[in-house]
Amino acid sequence: MTRHVAIVGTGPAGFYCAEAIFKKDPEIRVDLIDRLPTPYGLVRSGVAPDHQGTKNVWRVFDRTAKRDPVSFYGNVELGRDVSVTELLGLYDAVVIATGVTVDRQLGIDGEQLPGVYGSRELSAWYNGHPDYAGLDPELKGPGIAVIGNGNVAVDVVRVLSRARDEMAKTDIPEYALKKIEESDYTDLYMLGRRGPTQASFTTAELRELGDMDQTVAVVDAAQLPDEVHVDDPKQQKKMEKIIDTLRGYSEHDPNSKPKRLHMKWFSSPVRILGEDRVTGLEVAKTHLVDGKAEITGEHYTIEVGTVITAIGYFAQPIEGLPIGTWRGCYENEDGKIRDRLWAVGWAKRGPSGVIATNRKDSMGVAEALMAELEDGGRAGGEGLAKLLGERGVRVTSYDDWAKIDEREVGGAAEGAPRKKLCSIEEMLAACE
Ligand code: NAP
Repeated sequence: MTRHVAIVGTGPAGFYCAEAIFKKDPEIRVDLIDRLPTPYGLVRSGVAPDHQGTKNVWRVFDRTAKRDPVSFYGNVELGRDVSVTELLGLYDAVVIATGVTVDRQLGIDGEQLPGVYGSRELSAWYNGHPDYAGLDPELKGPGIAVIGNGNVAVDVVRVLSRARDEMAKTDIPEYALKKIEESDYTDLYMLGRRGPTQASFTTAELRELGDMDQTVAVVDAAQLPDEVHVDDPKQQKKMEKIIDTLRGYSEHDPNSKPKRLHMKWFSSPVRILGEDRVTGLEVAKTHLVDGKAEITGEHYTIEVGTVITAIGYFAQPIEGLPIGTWRGCYENEDGKIRDRLWAVGWAKRGPSGVIATNRKDSMGVAEALMAELEDGGRAGGEGLAKLLGERGVRVTSYDDWAKIDEREVGGAAEGAPRKKLCSIEEMLAACE
């Protein structure tokens, strides 16, 4: 008899897991389930639009999706259309690959004011995710503060800093381009609560900030260390490159371009100011104590109309999936949540690592899962299709996705890869 595995979430972790299962045993049926009619998760709606090279990894996933024992069930939401318990009734194993999609909060006064956005919602907005296409964020000046020093913060400041021409060969939706272009901000602030050598962004991403048409990266040389001392030699090299790059930025003329990106460290937001909406940000200066940021007692204020947090994420609540407090992902041990229920990717380890990190990680979970996989005579995809049919869910297949893809690619402006359909209705209409 055939064994059936359901993977919920079709970002990199889900696809790498499906491929690992297929490679080990092509007799196992793998059903990939996604809440959107489209596949690829953060590759489609998280990776910045000007990183089309990174997005090209979809070609690898496309091969997996077209394997005989693999099927795609789009427009099916776990917790809404089908429950974890029901999937466990239909499949011999279920893998949660839904990522972590809730923005972490700073927990400071003023965070609820209009004009404060999380990086998850903002990046999903400029990527045309149907849930966020209507966000219409107020990108108000004179300044915009982006909190955090990871690659997500770098993505956000870069997309908000670029000129229309620099985005011409991307799939950013016109509504986002127009909003960014017409907004009045002239100064962006990227704030790290610790120092530049504690930042988690990577060198390549940092270097892109030095190469933007209308925005100049500005760094105060006094915030940079004279020398870098890190225990790990690999990390030492990385940090030397980062400080070198930042030293270069410290020589930039702030008035050389119409907009400035101020990179500031030892800066911890303590209060978002404003009555009806954001008008400023109060920041406490910090210093390092045992590697942690401690507030010195000195404060400063920056005049911003928008605050964007890029300080990490945690998992969305789903019935039957307890969330751990520390890493913000579903509670699991080496990917195992409980009998026949597994997690991969950010749902397993929290929001860390690049796309490729998921390959090895998902392979490990696939191996452990297969070692325990037994044929329970379960109905698999046939049973799922029947259940969803009874509930009136309009499931999209991978062929449907091909139609959406064709419509998007066909509608692209010259030089752009596609013009994204940004609503479920448009996507479903394209499938007919
Ligand atoms: P991250 O690298 O963990 O960065 C989170 C940042 O938020 C850190 O600078 C952290 O500072 C700061 N932070 C956390 N809590 C804070 C608070 N209360 N106040 C002020 N700052 C706070 O996470 P991420 O940027 O969200 O990225 C997630 C993963 O995706 C990373 O592995 C990243 O490399 C990857 N990614 C990669 C790319 C790419 O390859 N181009 C693009 C996007 C994302 P502390 O260090 O002081 O905690």
